[in-house]
Amino acid sequence: MPEDQKHYATYNDVHNLCKESAKELNQWGINLIIAIGGGGYIPARILRSFMKKDDGSNIPIQAIGLSLYERSAEDSVEEVPGTEVKRLQWLDVDSSMANLIGKNVLIVDEVDDTRTTLKYAVEELKKDVKVAKKQLPPGRSLNGKEKTNEETKFHVFVLHNKKKEKKGELPDKMDKDPKRYHAAVTTGDVWICYPWEAEDIEKHDELAKESPIVAIPAAETESITKESSTTTVQEEPSPKVV
Ligand code: 5GP
Repeated sequence: MPEDQKHYATYNDVHNLCKESAKELNQWGINLIIAIGGGGYIPARILRSFMKKDDGSNIPIQAIGLSLYERSAEDSVEEVPGTEVKRLQWLDVDSSMANLIGKNVLIVDEVDDTRTTLKYAVEELKKDVKVAKKQLPPGRSLNGKEKTNEETKFHVFVLHNKKKEKKGELPDKMDKDPKRYHAAVTTGDVWICYPWEAEDIEKHDELAKESPIVAIPAAETESITKESSTTTVQEEPSPKVV
């Protein structure tokens, strides 16, 4: 990727975006975070510093690992240039997945690009929770209620949402619900360099001064702010560097 198409986020940028976003996310009654690795791990941990369960305790973080890969023409019977998601790490249906039943779950990733990964994560987690519910021995309960009757509600947080045509659609149109999908920043279709990928963090921070992430102006996000949440850019009349 040519250098002039790269934009840089520093650790401090990420920290402050998480801190700011937690104000909204704290309204959602989240009691479990699922971080999509590798990019969701650090934002998830920072977020936890600014989020608490309703009873004041820390929110547990569970991890899944997903990777997106391009299917090559030889692998494919048809000529489909589509992308596929590979599970590198997943939750155990018998133990960890049962723990999701009845929870308000926040799925965290660093960037919503084509939305393929997020779609996969939400759909597959929903499916597995269903299976886990069926497998629960009778009489297992949560807060005195039958656990099997309790809904699991999924929510999504990303640092950056790229305004572009998405390949994946989230279940229940959750990206159009500002109480279920929150992007700290909506930006254009650019390549974002995150600090945890940097080999030379001092150079990365220097480059961030020259090429920071630019939030797209409110007027241009209007169509998507109606559909999804982009709190940091809604009141800005002109491009904003974040
Ligand atoms: P998706 O296309 O499924 O929304 O994004 C999948 C993954 O591609 C992300 O979790 C991230 O790891 C990677 N990705 C997509 N766009 C970018 C980007 O601009 N910068 C970086 N560093 N990774 C990206």
